[in-house]
Amino acid sequence: MIRLRGVSKTYPDGTTAVRELDLDVERGELVCLVGPSGCGKSTTLKMINRLVEPTTGTIEIDGHDVTDGDPVALRRGIGYVIQQVGLFPHQKIITNVMTVPLLLGESKSFARERAGELLTLVGLDPARYADRYPHQLSGGQRQRVGVARALAANPPVLLMDEPFGAVDPIVRGRLQDEFLRLQRELGKTVVLVTHDIDEAVKLGDRVAVFADGGRLLQSDVPARLLGFP
Ligand code: ADP
Ligand code: ADP
Repeated sequence: MIRLRGVSKTYPDGTTAVRELDLDVERGELVCLVGPSGCGKSTTLKMINRLVEPTTGTIEIDGHDVTDGDPVALRRGIGYVIQQVGLFPHQKIITNVMTVPLLLGESKSFARERAGELLTLVGLDPARYADRYPHQLSGGQRQRVGVARALAANPPVLLMDEPFGAVDPIVRGRLQDEFLRLQRELGKTVVLVTHDIDEAVKLGDRVAVFADGGRLLQSDVPARLLGFP
């Protein structure tokens, strides 16, 4: 479903973040990109949703080159979740999630209903949380809102950059478990970036290991990465 061939990125200051990357992500697969800080994981994600243009190489989603056409239309099909979820601080949780369906031209009542369903899906009871503001939620709860908002356009693809990084280990474990359940239920194609090899092995159908300098070292199922035959 997602296919990268010979993708490199050199930023204008001369930093090469990604080198000659070939990567395939099948439909419904959850692939984790793992490696030390600065090895090009975030850059790789941002090239898939065209926040960053590759210097060389091609990126296709369902056979369409992502650099063809309107980037806004492209991003409509791609949910993006980052570590510090940028919720609108002066808007209620429900409004934060409704924004996406409203932007897509849905009616207010439909958007509200959809946002309520999504909050329920990520484990936030709308009766309790819909009318709160972001600062009235814990870090873990804010991340859930971020996931709900990323799902709001019902995108087939989710790109997640350290989505569970900003919360304590116990909350992280719970969010990971719930996310795995959600992903299996919804069948989304997911590329998830983490610097935590344990998280990658726990969540990934496949794990792509990057090294310093933006090179892909290895891409395999978790068991084989851990040395099982
Ligand atoms: P990771 O997500 O693995 O931590 P990044 O993709 O963020 O890695 O960064 C890869 C390399 O590219 C790093 O050396 C980083 O400093 C550099 N880099 C990232 N963004 C930019 C940018 N906008 N301009 C210049 N260099 C950048
Ligand atoms: P989590 O386990 O998700 O990190 P916390 O232990 O941080 O949750 O928070 C526990 C409860 O306290 C949650 O129900 C959260 O909504 C509530 N809470 C956290 N911060 C605030 C706040 N600033 N105002 C009101 N409620 C809050």
